[in-house]
Amino acid sequence: MGKLLGWVLVGVLVWFVWRFMVISKRRAERAKAAEPSGTDPTSSHQCERRDTPVTDKTPEMMMQCVVCGVHLPATEALFAGGNVYCSEAHRNQGPPAHAGAAVRRDES
Ligand SMILES: [Zn+2]
Repeated sequence: MGKLLGWVLVGVLVWFVWRFMVISKRRAERAKAAEPSGTDPTSSHQCERRDTPVTDKTPEMMMQCVVCGVHLPATEALFAGGNVYCSEAHRNQGPPAHAGAAVRRDES
């Protein structure tokens, strides 16, 4: 009788170990699957935070055309005489006489 109880205990123990392994394996697979979508709060969050200041600030640096007032990224803007233009046509046209007022109108 005592021997049988020992074997049952061993069986339960093996079952517990096997179940733990299956669950941990599933968890690892789930974590891997969740990584691209960014739902894992621990690992991917730090990466995103580290990336945003570097990648976002440079292209989102917006300039305003002094002629038409359109906003465009600094990489696409044209500069002449300390003024910003959206296109070559507006650069050739030159800044309006009230260039300062146009900028102030946008702020207020
Ligand atoms: Zn313009």
